[in-house]
Amino acid sequence: MVRGVRSVFVRSAFAVSLVFGLCSSALPHGLVADAPADTMLSSSSGGIREDVPKRFRPRFDKWKSELLVTPYGKQAWERFAGRRDFTLTIRVSEERGKGAATDKFVWDDDGNLVAATITLGTELDGGVPPPVYYPVLNALSQPAASPSIRPTVFAAAKLIHEIGHVEQAAAAAAGVLEKESRLVPKYIEIFLNNGLDANDRRLLDLRQQLGGTPTQLWEEREYNSEVVAMRYVTERLSDEDLCLVLHKVRENLETYGSAFESKFDLAREFASAACRR
Ligand SMILES: [Zn+2]
Repeated sequence: MVRGVRSVFVRSAFAVSLVFGLCSSALPHGLVADAPADTMLSSSSGGIREDVPKRFRPRFDKWKSELLVTPYGKQAWERFAGRRDFTLTIRVSEERGKGAATDKFVWDDDGNLVAATITLGTELDGGVPPPVYYPVLNALSQPAASPSIRPTVFAAAKLIHEIGHVEQAAAAAAGVLEKESRLVPKYIEIFLNNGLDANDRRLLDLRQQLGGTPTQLWEEREYNSEVVAMRYVTERLSDEDLCLVLHKVRENLETYGSAFESKFDLAREFASAACRR
């Protein structure tokens, strides 16, 4: 049972600093959910609650099936589906378009994360996420990707990228995200009003408390979620398609995210797919 829950719109803070991206912003406060919804689990008693308008149910089911066909995706789904102490709501909303977001984090009085919401756009199987921050999703998107990679695979990769954000939030030490939700807006406000001086002593102090700049925190999480997407893709694609994706991921990382390349262990992936280097 959840006692005294508190909700913090953590990711909305990051939206101020980075305006682009697949999942950079939270839903505006007060946004009304699509109706009527085909809700499979209406209580907040744990598990996964699918909040999907009936007209979008067929496409959502395809995305979900595409995820569950891999052992990695199935395990990730079942980890949340089987929990009674945590409710993951997955919404499908036209407002998100080709993107997705994870927000509405809720903690109990003991600091345990007990709920979160993933919102998927109704056009999730389209679009081209930028190669910086989204090296894997970018490599899967058309026209760069192999034409045999189905759009549903692309959508499922975006879904598990968001699940990666929930897993990261659940794994964070109690209070860390709440602290960020308080301090990041302060950081941004000071930065925007001091002539964009990153060496402002107040910002240095906040950076120390946060463990990095808001952008550094945000990009670390995006790349971690891209590693999650990579694991799904590795199991889902044929070796031939996977090799094409791996080459593009490597190019994206070398160009934009070399500091994060080691997270992906590309050498192992290239070897397991028997790719020509
Ligand atoms: Zn993300």
